[in-house]
Amino acid sequence: MPMKPAPDKQTLLRSLPSIQDVLVNPVVTAIAIDPRYLTPIIREELNAIRVAIRDDSFRQTDILAYLLKKIESRSRTLLNPSLQRVINASGIVLHTNMGRAPLPLSARQAVREVSENFSNLELNLENGKRGNRQSHCAELLKTLTGAEDAIVVNNCAAAILLALTAICRRKEVPVSRGELVEIGGSFRMPDVMKFSGAKMVEVGTTNKTHLRDYAEAITEKTSALLKVHCSNYRIVGFTKDVSIGELANLAHQHELPFIYDMGSGMMEDMQHLGYPYEPTVRDILSEGVDLVVFSGDKILGGAQSGIVVGKKQWLEKLRKHHLARALRCDKMTLAALEATLRLYLQPKDLIKTLPVAHMLAEPVDNLRRRAEKILRSDSLSPLQIEIVEARSQIGSGAFPLETLPSIALRISGPLSALKIQKALRQFQPPVIGYVQDDALLLNLRTIRQDEDKIVHEALSRLATQST
Ligand SMILES: *Cc1c(COP(=O)(O)O)cnc(C)c1O
Repeated sequence: MPMKPAPDKQTLLRSLPSIQDVLVNPVVTAIAIDPRYLTPIIREELNAIRVAIRDDSFRQTDILAYLLKKIESRSRTLLNPSLQRVINASGIVLHTNMGRAPLPLSARQAVREVSENFSNLELNLENGKRGNRQSHCAELLKTLTGAEDAIVVNNCAAAILLALTAICRRKEVPVSRGELVEIGGSFRMPDVMKFSGAKMVEVGTTNKTHLRDYAEAITEKTSALLKVHCSNYRIVGFTKDVSIGELANLAHQHELPFIYDMGSGMMEDMQHLGYPYEPTVRDILSEGVDLVVFSGDKILGGAQSGIVVGKKQWLEKLRKHHLARALRCDKMTLAALEATLRLYLQPKDLIKTLPVAHMLAEPVDNLRRRAEKILRSDSLSPLQIEIVEARSQIGSGAFPLETLPSIALRISGPLSALKIQKALRQFQPPVIGYVQDDALLLNLRTIRQDEDKIVHEALSRLATQST
């Protein structure tokens, strides 16, 4: 049979539907988006087809079907949530790319309460006058850390920016060369310093900084001493840094404030739960630090926020600075943080009440039992899965060298590790594992027990896809 000759370009171009035709197509009228937002999408897709026809690169036989598919797909991007839940099987508990800390129940309820209703965000219920949004977390933070005063802003980076701007602008701040850190690619201490208008004076060397290096750098232009927690790295070997107590003393001899960027900010000593050792915010304050700055969504386990606790005299400067207004938190953040902080009043229950603590403390035997239960099903053939020992990280720059023992499901076939990873990422909800030695690992420590069945479903689906 002779083949039908391909229609020429002009015929194809003439056969393109008009925007109006497309708008009244039942497929398009069924899309829950107003025509005024669909029109430009249709126009763009029609133009793309027109260009492809002219370049001879258009290969579709049914133009209308192809166009409708494109429009549906673009509409789905608009209609489906972009920000969505995922199953964190990375083993990294505080993963910045996956939203760091999952919130405790009480925090979720508090967010709901203040977001559904009006609230006393800035209303003083005693006298009916204007209140202060900073008041809601302040008493808890003071009680928990022993600080004189506390404020909360959008994140730790914002808190440092505010402290440096309010106290150090146009003045000098000596910082150790060993602490000029970059965290997560977006937070670089030298850049934040520059942005604040403070002049950084580098002291010491990368591996060694002595007290005398700081002392020699202090001039009449010095406004504060600053120490930065080396969150995501360690300088090991022939090293020396100056203790917090020594620096606080030096600062106070010169009547300067001493600011400590703690990064993760431990509220409660949790070594008995298997956490590595790290001084608490209270410990740091008792060394004489004037301002301690830390994140609300790292090891603390609350909402994204930056907390500053310390001496009233300095916090007053932060509170009054114009920048504080620009960096202030939203009511939902404050509600979540307040409820999370309240849990710390009863530290013995944290393992039950705080998801991050629960994850970090879950015994390996438990993780192993859960892994066995996920696999106790024959519906997973032909997947090659085994239960292996793994390591887990706290993440977000907390304890870079310490890892926790964990258990992982190791899937080594029949598909390649990258294909398995992609398939699991496309599951609803996406399951995010990691590739190691040509296999895909799902680390149990960051999977919540109630998510085990989702992991099983994702694996069943993967098994079906692999047959
Ligand atoms: C993580 C971290 C920051 C940044 O904290 P964000 O809350 O992400 O802004 C700043 N300093 C240190 C030392 C950190 O570890």
